[in-house]
Amino acid sequence: MDNLVALYHEMIVDHGKNPRNFGVLEGVHELKGLNPLCGDQITLYVKIEGGKITDAKFSGQGCAISMASSSLMTQAIKGKTVVEAKTLFEAFHGLIMQETSLDHVNPILGKLAVLQGVAAYPSRIKCATLAWHALNGILEGADAPVSTEK
Ligand code: ZN
Repeated sequence: MDNLVALYHEMIVDHGKNPRNFGVLEGVHELKGLNPLCGDQITLYVKIEGGKITDAKFSGQGCAISMASSSLMTQAIKGKTVVEAKTLFEAFHGLIMQETSLDHVNPILGKLAVLQGVAAYPSRIKCATLAWHALNGILEGADAPVSTEK
């Protein structure tokens, strides 16, 4: 097991057991994300004020990877502008889909780069990206739940 995969495991276990920002926000943007293949169901809540994400929480249930990814994602986007959050989504997505190199996205992603470890488990990629697709849906103004299966 290389360092990145070991670090990835550590973060998934930590955030999966003790998800940060787990809960509900009232009167903010919210969107459901569904991953029918695994049974993950989350609802993402994002408060946007003056073009900036001032708060983010998520609720729902799913596997450790989906919970940990939602936890890490909500931590990462708090305090970011909408434009920065979109950049983060694109960097993360490119990394997971192995379309961009780690060197390129590392400065943008910071510690989120360890989530690249999921690429070693292709069947879990949808669990790891679910919260990010919900985020992207909110930023794009989607009003129907997003699903990993079209
Ligand atoms: Zn899952």
